[in-house]
Amino acid sequence: MGARRLNDSLWLIDTGSPYDCHVYVADGGTGAALIDCGTGLAAERLLEGIEGTGCLDRLSHVFVTHYHADHAGGAADVHAERGVRVLASAETAAALRVGDEDRTQVAVARAAGVYPADYRFPACRVDEVVADGARHEVGELSVTVHASPGHCDGHLCFMVDDGDRRALCTGDSIFSGGRVSVQPIPDCSPYLYARTSQRLAELSADMLLPGHLDLVLTDAAADLARAAESFRRLVPPPNILKADNADPN
Ligand SMILES: [Zn+2]
Repeated sequence: MGARRLNDSLWLIDTGSPYDCHVYVADGGTGAALIDCGTGLAAERLLEGIEGTGCLDRLSHVFVTHYHADHAGGAADVHAERGVRVLASAETAAALRVGDEDRTQVAVARAAGVYPADYRFPACRVDEVVADGARHEVGELSVTVHASPGHCDGHLCFMVDDGDRRALCTGDSIFSGGRVSVQPIPDCSPYLYARTSQRLAELSADMLLPGHLDLVLTDAAADLARAAESFRRLVPPPNILKADNADPN
């Protein structure tokens, strides 16, 4: 539990919850941001982890990659506790604002045992709808929004640039080794996934910070290229979800 420093401006928070995605803190000096926020099941530990980075009092933004509960469920608590601005795509915002358990597949995932039986997706206010190409300053950092549908509708990736290194926070789009997360849900589209993989491969990212599993701290372009190349051959890249793997996603 706590926080792992990735470089001068990025941290990985460990909430200790097996239900949560990876949560990153981007520290821009005069301001700081969260990229995704877990389910909310470990809200206290999340805040403790952020406090451990020294960023809690400077936290100004939460960037949400997509509306699945393991990434977005914690937004309500962070917003209530810290009053930070929640930024998300139009699709994510629509689901978050009403706590939509159908659009977000929370009801299906709960029935499948991915979340505890008593888990409910908390509605959360979204302060700003962001779209492809939008750029935000977080202190000294620049955060650029990249639309990346495929895993689900309205998925966004965020490029965090400290002027020296570019870290692409990929949510559930592309993972280490160029892997993907394809699920039998209505808004998962291999076709859109393929187009997303091509676009992300052109971004010259140094680091690939996914929502689950291993981080890629150097030469991320190779992992992104691998996914794009596989899709180019009309072969979906390896899936992070396996038949014997009950990881929440
Ligand atoms: Zn997801």
